[in-house]
Amino acid sequence: VAKNAGGGRWAWFDPAMDRIADQDAKLGADLRQAVARGELRVVYQPIVELPDGGIAGVEALLRWRHPEHGEISPAVFIPLAERNGSIIEVGRWVFEQVVKQAAAWQHEYGDLAPARVSVNVSARQLREPGFVAEVAAVVAAAGVEPSLITAEVTETAVLGTGAALDAVRGLNALGLRVALDDFGTGQSSLSLLVDCPVDVLKVDKSFVDGVTTASPQSVIVESLITITAGLRIQAVAEGVETADQAHRLHQAGYQYAQGFHFARPMSGAELGKLLRPGPVPA
Ligand code: C2E
Ligand code: MG
Ligand code: MG
Ligand code: MG
Repeated sequence: VAKNAGGGRWAWFDPAMDRIADQDAKLGADLRQAVARGELRVVYQPIVELPDGGIAGVEALLRWRHPEHGEISPAVFIPLAERNGSIIEVGRWVFEQVVKQAAAWQHEYGDLAPARVSVNVSARQLREPGFVAEVAAVVAAAGVEPSLITAEVTETAVLGTGAALDAVRGLNALGLRVALDDFGTGQSSLSLLVDCPVDVLKVDKSFVDGVTTASPQSVIVESLITITAGLRIQAVAEGVETADQAHRLHQAGYQYAQGFHFARPMSGAELGKLLRPGPVPA
């Protein structure tokens, strides 16, 4: 039996590793069927306006309830879906659900409906030929304004290939809005803010976490306001968990925030119940 002499090379021969690889393959196969079996659902987390917490928009987040394993985190199954390619089909399903939900809210709530609806788009989707045309068709079929929909992409996804950047430009040309997600954690390149049409910059939770202390994170959070304001990009602070953080972010000039302090992700129907006139209590 080969010894693991450092590095992952000999992992094949480790029975424990083998079980993990098996599980990965099994889960991947399950995910391919999850759409057809009705195991996926989309939840929506408010993006709020500071300081009073009125709903400025929502982010769609995918959920998977596995028949045996229960709820599986997207942090686990999205990377899996990207590896086995099922993200194409899963992502297509998510996008359709989200655009239909956005249209349904408008129909039911009119002016009170969320004015911005964000959906996460992975690198693999961006690189898929025909992706932009597909998006155009789904948006047109639902009869919503393209600018209602924001595509959330990561720096790493856009920097990865020319095809991904072309797709982002295509989405922008259609009239969708583009958000750079988890900003600061990927292969950050400020030139992306020049080369890529960016409407929204989502400042990652790892920076927001440090905003109430004298920290490098808080310096970065404050500096990003100068950059985004100058570039006419909206800044959204992600993962806001405390009133203290919300207060500091508002003081630093942030107009938008998202996080458990304001609201957790919820079903489309639950979100609808929050859509009434006046500011929503935090
Ligand atoms: P993300 O796009 O950055 O989404 C924000 C994540 O932070 C969500 O996790 C949300 O539930 C969580 N979050 C929001 N506020 C707080 C907070 O105050 N504290 C903490 N600790 N977490 C907070 P979630 O839903 O588990 O999703 C994880 C990631 O999976 C997402 O990060 C996104 O990258 C990916 N993902 C989720 N749904 C989709 C999807 O439909 N398509 C694609 N391609 N990726 C998705
Ligand atoms: Mg996101
Ligand atoms: Mg994010
Ligand atoms: Mg994040």
